[in-house]
Amino acid sequence: MNRPHMLVIAAALGVAFSQTVLAAPAAELAGNPLATASSLPFHYPAFDKIKDEHFIPAFNEGMRQQLKEIEAIANNKAAPSFDNTVVAMEKSGALLTRVQTVFYNLQGANTNDKLDAIDSEMSPKLAAHSDAIFLNPKLWARVKSLYEKRESLKLDAESKHLLERYHTDFVRAGAQLSAADKEKLKAINGDIAKLQTAFTQNVLKETNASALVVDSRAELAGMSDAAIDAAAAAAKAKGMDGKFLVAVVNTSGQPPLAELTNRATREKLMALSLARGSRGGEFDSRELVLKIAKARAEKATLLGYANFAAYSLEDQTAHDTASVNKLLSELAKPAVNNARKEAADLQAVVDAEKGGFQIGAADWAYYTDKVRAQRFAFDENQLKPYFELDNVLINGVFYAANKLYGLTFKERKDLPVYNPDVRVFDVFDADGKQLAIFLADMYARSNKQGGAWMNEYISQSSLLGTHSVVANHLNIPKPPAGEPTLLTYDEVKTAFHEFGHALHGMFSNVKYPRFSGTSVPRDFVEYPSQVNEMWAVWPAVLSNYAKHYKTGAPMPKELLDKVIASKKFNQGFMTTEYLAASLLDQRWHQLTPAQIPTDVLGFEAQSLKDMGVDFAPVPPRYRTTYFSHSFSGGYSAGYYAYLWSEKLDADTVEWFKENGGLQRKNGDWFRAKLLSRGGTDDAMNLFRNFRGRDPVIEPLLDRRGLK
Ligand SMILES: [Zn+2]
Repeated sequence: MNRPHMLVIAAALGVAFSQTVLAAPAAELAGNPLATASSLPFHYPAFDKIKDEHFIPAFNEGMRQQLKEIEAIANNKAAPSFDNTVVAMEKSGALLTRVQTVFYNLQGANTNDKLDAIDSEMSPKLAAHSDAIFLNPKLWARVKSLYEKRESLKLDAESKHLLERYHTDFVRAGAQLSAADKEKLKAINGDIAKLQTAFTQNVLKETNASALVVDSRAELAGMSDAAIDAAAAAAKAKGMDGKFLVAVVNTSGQPPLAELTNRATREKLMALSLARGSRGGEFDSRELVLKIAKARAEKATLLGYANFAAYSLEDQTAHDTASVNKLLSELAKPAVNNARKEAADLQAVVDAEKGGFQIGAADWAYYTDKVRAQRFAFDENQLKPYFELDNVLINGVFYAANKLYGLTFKERKDLPVYNPDVRVFDVFDADGKQLAIFLADMYARSNKQGGAWMNEYISQSSLLGTHSVVANHLNIPKPPAGEPTLLTYDEVKTAFHEFGHALHGMFSNVKYPRFSGTSVPRDFVEYPSQVNEMWAVWPAVLSNYAKHYKTGAPMPKELLDKVIASKKFNQGFMTTEYLAASLLDQRWHQLTPAQIPTDVLGFEAQSLKDMGVDFAPVPPRYRTTYFSHSFSGGYSAGYYAYLWSEKLDADTVEWFKENGGLQRKNGDWFRAKLLSRGGTDDAMNLFRNFRGRDPVIEPLLDRRGLK
């Protein structure tokens, strides 16, 4: 995924990502490393100097400075011009951008109680700050007057698009509301910010609190000795000497379910996972869900939309709820049919073994691996020795980027990091010039949000003279000291995926920060990253990195063929769990305020049933009460975006194949037409310029076995 935590906020503010526009540091920021742009290469953050106590003063001063800048723009005696209004806004807020960027990246990747408390304190203040800009009537009057005469301003295409973008941002933020309604909206925005922050923090705490604890090694039979040792160490660290603790991850499915031979343990783990946020206690999220859904529905009503999804989708390439509902519901039936067929295959194994039970959610992964082993005569664990982390990253991910785009990478150890496991690379373009700095933060930690994401510390902009500093975050379990890090096939794909976002950030070649890199519609942003997954199994790339970590032997050809053949296997499950979550996300956000239910789990169950995805062995990828994508902000009413983007992705994969695959000419074309363009043009125009036509859906249906 792409978690532009900071980007979402900054884009909503219209804030520049500037590290170069220097305002004189205020006295209260004396000695604060956030006060001025970092003097490290590319303004890379001085992680060794930034302390938790530096954030609040920098946030407050950053907001104060930007409001001052905005007041000066709004009250300018000179008639509005593109430069004195729109460009001036793009340049405003340098300090706030700097502190937000570092803070939200660290809070996602390396949080603690102090940072969580700052987040809770700042999120309503930042919402109010955004409102103070977008609901400023004088500022709006200037933007509007420019917008109305935009054809006569002789603007270049990117500048004209920026003016239109600002106009849309103001309208969507409520600039046209009456003074009384603006006050109402401000109150709702403050509430939403507080509630979302509480939800995010709850989910992480509840996930940590839901770990599986067992008394004996036998209960963990099937897991590797190393993993069981790690579970013993994890229990000991929590003061439970002699027990075994297995952490849960944020999806419904849990990786150990594929390995655990003890059915009771599997069921216990699955139940812990599914109960998160709805089992009572300190971190129960049901009330928060209802309040967030209601507040968002009220906001949409106030702005004149039928519901929050309608408001949200209007600004996406999907455009409206009808088109999203259509895509999701058309795919739901064939996907569930495929999942039922897969379930029958799994049941046949259970029955042959005289298991005497019906296949359930807890059993799915375990028996899937068995069927996979029978059908393709291999199991996932045979792959892992060929997927050593360094090989995957350097000889796989980086290698593909070299063959396609001519990039080269050089690790450097002199820049400070916030955790010793984080690695830093200089990225050089084909002409030898440095393009960007890339951070790889690959390991799971209990203070790190779940899943995987990319974000930026510095965004490229020629207006501000900045270059990209981008980071990828994964959650790969860290092996005991001295052991190699061996990845699953899914983790390998994730590494390629996140690097696709990183390329989108690093190749950005735009003038305005508002359009930098991944500042594109949410249902478009997953497209370049998903395309990059194709190189993980591209023969020339695979053979370069998939080598046995001990012997260096290449992954045997037949194993490789099986990997590729098995790619379609279990698609029914994967598509169904994804669609179920996407449909839930839509259901919750297609309600009017009066339709918000009182019973979260009841509404969830009824929704899944109505939509025909209530197939118990395949629970939604996220249930409502731990669905951070949906209730924390980033992907609210937007979880469908992965599948929507996949239509473009699958069609683009076909284009690469038609044109000879892994070649510079292909990479350079994709970069020139799409990856370098950020949000400077309508997203679907960018696609058409690249592909030469509109996207077609057949490659997606084929890939997912939905024909
Ligand atoms: Zn992504």
